[in-house]
Amino acid sequence: MRLEVVTIGDELLLGHTIDTNAAHLARELAGIGVSIVRRATVGDAAGDIAAGVRDALDRADGVITTGGLGPTSDDLTKESIAALFGRRMVLDERILADLERRWADRFGGPLPASNRQQAMIPEGATILVNRHGSAPGIWLENERGRWVAMLPGVPREMRGMLADELLPRLAARVGADPTVVRSAVLRTTSMAESALADRLGPLARGIGSLSLAYLPGQEGVDLRLTSRDARAHEADAALAAGLAALRERVGSSVYAEGAADLAAIVLDGCRARGLTIAVAESCTGGLLGARLTAIPGSSDVVLGGVIAYGNRVKVELLGVSPDDISAHGAVSEPVARQLAAGARARLSADVGIGITGVAGPGGGTAEKPVGTVWIAVDVRGEAVVHDGRYIGDREEIRFRATQRALDLLRRRLID
Ligand code: ATP
Ligand code: MG
Repeated sequence: MRLEVVTIGDELLLGHTIDTNAAHLARELAGIGVSIVRRATVGDAAGDIAAGVRDALDRADGVITTGGLGPTSDDLTKESIAALFGRRMVLDERILADLERRWADRFGGPLPASNRQQAMIPEGATILVNRHGSAPGIWLENERGRWVAMLPGVPREMRGMLADELLPRLAARVGADPTVVRSAVLRTTSMAESALADRLGPLARGIGSLSLAYLPGQEGVDLRLTSRDARAHEADAALAAGLAALRERVGSSVYAEGAADLAAIVLDGCRARGLTIAVAESCTGGLLGARLTAIPGSSDVVLGGVIAYGNRVKVELLGVSPDDISAHGAVSEPVARQLAAGARARLSADVGIGITGVAGPGGGTAEKPVGTVWIAVDVRGEAVVHDGRYIGDREEIRFRATQRALDLLRRRLID
């Protein structure tokens, strides 16, 4: 079954409201094996709604709309789509009675005229009951079996009606052993998207029937495999094989499957080896410590850390050499090394991590531009030091530096 989604609302086009309805619909429908093949957003004008739905119906078996079902004058969805199907609007006595009862219960007195509008439905339509609000949804189908399902715009109501009314209806149409849309994700870090594509070679365009998407972000590049139009057990088997093939190609840049945080992976690795961690952070200002301690149960691995922002703190609390700071600058290899060693020694930890860099936006020089970060990871006195240049604004540079620090430690653990 091929579906299209049309979300309706001027606020979506203006960017005042983010279209979370379309994303929610796509995820839920994928779960029952129904693919959304295209989505569009139109404004509240009747002509735009009709044109958007007509175009979608030309291509798809069915169209789901959200928004514009309410009682106000900008809510034109039902009328526009009824006109498209050549149907009149008729008063539904059951909906009217229900609206009158609800209104009387909640506010007392007679139903305002504008709300009566909600009881008007296209001739021949099926009502999708709204247990989460007042505007009923509508299912309208033509002689050729093409249909439009109209859901409310308010996300909570839309989600409720989808689960109560629409998903069961669509699942029944799809049949007993439906095909599914399933994805699996492999998380990689410390490798650029283009280098990753080169490494993947022939797999870069997909594996068998699985499509491959590159999802770059601050944490690295996620590789997402997607199976469509296969039965659940076939999809699961294909995805498992696909993940294994990707893992083998990509190698050590893979740190997890699914949604795992690198901090959690590193903590597990340290815990398994009985290692404790101490951090000394300059430009990241505690962000690495925050990421590590955000993971429940981190206290058996993380001992603590120092936000060594000022040079005096680097020297007095962590034993960094003032001569090295003068000679090489605070953002330098020897300082990163001594921050890591100092954290390890002063906190009696197995692992010390030192980070010093230029997070910007000011403070960059020709030699050390904004984004320059030195990271040292000292495991029982043996240190690796990394000189990175990170892109982005201050927040991104700081985050990327913590991600690299965690990855340096992860790689030490698997060596
Ligand atoms: P109502 O009965 O409240 O008028 P409605 O079905 O007419 O409901 P809209 O008026 O289009 O829906 O939207 C109601 C609210 O729901 C909007 O203010 C908006 O914040 C939110 N909304 C609408 N469409 C979306 C969407 N696609 N994604 C997220 N939020 C949305
Ligand atoms: Mg409305």
